[in-house]
Amino acid sequence: MENILEVNDLHVTFSTYGGTVKAVRGVNFYLKKGETLAIVGESGCGKSVTSNAIMRLIPDPPGKITGGRILFKGKDLTKLSDKDMRSIRGVDISMIFQDPMTALNPTLTIGTQLIEGVMQHQKLSKETATKKALEMMNLVGIPSPEERLKQYPHQFSGGMRQRIVIAIALICEPELLIADEPTTALDVTIQAQILELFEKIQEVTGVSIILITHDLGVVASIADRIAVMYAGKIIETGTKRDVFYRSEHPYTKGLLNSVPRLDLQEKELTSIDGTPPDLFSPPRGCPFVARCSYAMEVCDHIYPAATELSASHDVNCWLQDERAKKLLAVSSPVNGE
Ligand code: SF4
Repeated sequence: MENILEVNDLHVTFSTYGGTVKAVRGVNFYLKKGETLAIVGESGCGKSVTSNAIMRLIPDPPGKITGGRILFKGKDLTKLSDKDMRSIRGVDISMIFQDPMTALNPTLTIGTQLIEGVMQHQKLSKETATKKALEMMNLVGIPSPEERLKQYPHQFSGGMRQRIVIAIALICEPELLIADEPTTALDVTIQAQILELFEKIQEVTGVSIILITHDLGVVASIADRIAVMYAGKIIETGTKRDVFYRSEHPYTKGLLNSVPRLDLQEKELTSIDGTPPDLFSPPRGCPFVARCSYAMEVCDHIYPAATELSASHDVNCWLQDERAKKLLAVSSPVNGE
């Protein structure tokens, strides 16, 4: 299957009074047509900045894409004019944000919010756009769509509002959908329904999805592949099976040990000690070094390159790097164990 998106060596910084925050530091990943890639990591790891960079929604200043390429169907989005980017945003690439209430305009009816984008971008008549809006409402599971089109966001529950946001994102038939923490503001049962909806939408429309989340539970149900981010870098990528059952990065293992799993009985939950590094002056070597119980001297000085563990599984950790064996022979552990 061909790649619909390739992100190569992406760097994003933010200038502040305190200095420059290096929020995304050389991120690489790809997304195949019709695939769901989950980007997982804790708050501040750069996952939302990465998705905003793909949409070219980094406010400049203070933010800036300082390096790398974002190839969408072979076209480098970092090189497009604002006008060209506007014609892609919402049409070829759509985004769903975390809080459905702030994503909707409380003063406009759902119908207006659904049809205005499609009328503008696809030059459809009001009648055709309304027909399309009704189809979308049906697809996302809104009952009595004709009546609901005339209502305002406050007349919908949280879950129903998120369904509307998804319908708005899909109405122009985008090829790529970026969902940034789409279920975080919802309670658990509604979360499950929204995740099922993503699967159904992908089946029906074939849209490729990037799912940004801090929640490994969300990932387990719908992702094909997972990229784990830490301190502005992707530190492990693999299929769901690779990451859940064969993870090799100590940070990924720490994340997995901190969430309850039904497939592992009587598992004790543990937290990862310490805090992520300061991205004003990130470490020269592995960013996880201060929290890693396997850290060695080499980890402090040199960032580990990606090691290919299988055709689908990459990890950036010196423990997996064959070339490190020589270095390890002359290094000693710095954090014990
Ligand atoms: Fe730990 Fe070193 Fe691997 Fe980083 S490179 S995760 S510090 S062992």
